[in-house]
Amino acid sequence: MQIGVLALQGDFAAHERALRELGADVRQVRTPGELVLVDGLIIPGGESTTMLKLLLEDGMAEPLKAFAATRVIYGTCAGAILAARVVTSPAQFSFGFIDIDIERNAYGRQVDSSIRRLQPEQEFIDRTGPGKLEAIFIRAPIISRLGEGVRVLIQDEGTPVLVEQGNMLAGSFHPELTADRRVHQLFLDKVSKSTG
Ligand code: GLN
Repeated sequence: MQIGVLALQGDFAAHERALRELGADVRQVRTPGELVLVDGLIIPGGESTTMLKLLLEDGMAEPLKAFAATRVIYGTCAGAILAARVVTSPAQFSFGFIDIDIERNAYGRQVDSSIRRLQPEQEFIDRTGPGKLEAIFIRAPIISRLGEGVRVLIQDEGTPVLVEQGNMLAGSFHPELTADRRVHQLFLDKVSKSTG
């Protein structure tokens, strides 16, 4: 099983390290040729407008759509923005891989970045292990609408921060920047199941 981290922009290196800690075979993905080699993909945090521009310039849009139809993708922060159905504040093209709406930079200037200790939903605990999870938010988007069949795995006072639908995972925080590896483990378990 090969795991890819989209490495056009953003904090892909930290995701790569997190996945390696869990023993995964990881490669950076920048081209359509590299994308076809992996079984699951993380789209990292960063700056979604820049990442989108690079994706389009590098001919990655159509290959990514084809990949999403059958493979597992986990979008974090800017990655979740790209994967959402509708993006606001400001509006921007997105791929609609997961049926959520997302509001960019929604936490406002004062709480631009924060660290919160969150109690995950029971389903997340059952799949990954017990205990609260430290979540780092950096100019984070807010998941503002959940479509039918989108499940909440972690929330912060009623706001979903990690959600799942089919082969898609999307989250507004940065698990690659903390030591808790449960979110990456959950992603790897999903990829492993999807490859049989
Ligand atoms: N605010 C960024 C954007 O809109 C996302 C921030 C992040 O990925 N940490 O692209």
